[in-house]
Amino acid sequence: MKVRVAVNGFGTIGKRVADAVARQPDLELVGVTKTRPSFEARRAAEKGYPLYVAGDGKAEEFDRAGLRLAGTASELFSRVDVVVDAAPEKVGRENRHHYDAAGIRAVFQGGEKADVAEASFSALANYEVCRGKRSVRVVSCNTTGLVRAAAVLRARWGVEHWEATLVRRGADPAESKKGPINGILPTFQLPSHHGPDVRTVFPDLSIATTAVVVPTTLMHVHVNHVTLDRAPADAPEVLAAFRGTPRFHVFAPWEHADGTPQVMEYARDRGIGFNDMMENVVWEAGLRLDGRDLYFFQAIHQESIVVPENIDAIRAMFDLAPDAATSIRITDRALGLGAP
Ligand code: NAD
Repeated sequence: MKVRVAVNGFGTIGKRVADAVARQPDLELVGVTKTRPSFEARRAAEKGYPLYVAGDGKAEEFDRAGLRLAGTASELFSRVDVVVDAAPEKVGRENRHHYDAAGIRAVFQGGEKADVAEASFSALANYEVCRGKRSVRVVSCNTTGLVRAAAVLRARWGVEHWEATLVRRGADPAESKKGPINGILPTFQLPSHHGPDVRTVFPDLSIATTAVVVPTTLMHVHVNHVTLDRAPADAPEVLAAFRGTPRFHVFAPWEHADGTPQVMEYARDRGIGFNDMMENVVWEAGLRLDGRDLYFFQAIHQESIVVPENIDAIRAMFDLAPDAATSIRITDRALGLGAP
């Protein structure tokens, strides 16, 4: 029997997770919620996703817009085994009592503090820890990117210490009221909160992060300096490790993907999801090894990197796959990522 899933909050993350759930062979998307009618609510209806009213939303507004509601969010929660909470930052914690009242499991997002759930999750790193859990938090976009790369490097060479500067996008493409429009804004929290967030998944990883926010909407870029425990043979060996790991995409120099605009143009050419790039993007030309010191850039598409992670989180919670690799393979095949 398929695991019945609700998506509460149908915005940037929620609409992507809903599509991803609908594509999985072992999950059933029972419904999604909106607080008010919008083009996104219309798209949910057009895709045939049963629409439920959430938060302080009013059913009459949906009626007036000609959008048929299947019920209230509480009714939706009574019809599912698990909810993916994709409400705005901090609202997930407020929603938690509804899930507890309905007796259903919950997947939260990285905008919530770690203690919202029993464990923080990233598929390549700690799938086993989250097996059977009733609540899990998928770590944020930046943290997911760092944790995935850490999973690869730790397993092969060990990590003595990691320094990363995160060049963060100012807003998502649809967020017209956020910025900056001009300027580079240092985050005056030194080190930034991302390192401690990585340690919610890898508690013993020595990592310190700093961050600046820049006027772009496409992606984040991480500038990494990792001192490994053991020296890899050469840079190609490290690149081969990234290339050989699901959810990594390595651009060769001849592809002329010189920065995030070309990466996202590739994503538009490829047309997966909402023209998304769900993998960590590594540039061959942007990786250098000097003994045990590894320097590399990676780009993270903030709107989509956590989407496959939400699917694997559900599979871990319901023990639907024998191991992480199998879950990742099922998820990625359904999404069209990686090898067919
Ligand atoms: P969003 O604002 O795009 O979407 C949130 C949706 O939830 C909106 O449709 C909103 O109307 C709805 N909503 C508001 N109140 C609600 C309530 N009480 N119940 C249910 N739904 C409600 O936000 P987002 O960017 O999708 O972020 C969702 C979560 O994912 C946050 O925790 C965020 O930190 C995290 N996240 C965001 C990104 C990103 O780059 N956008 C990346 C990774 C993780």
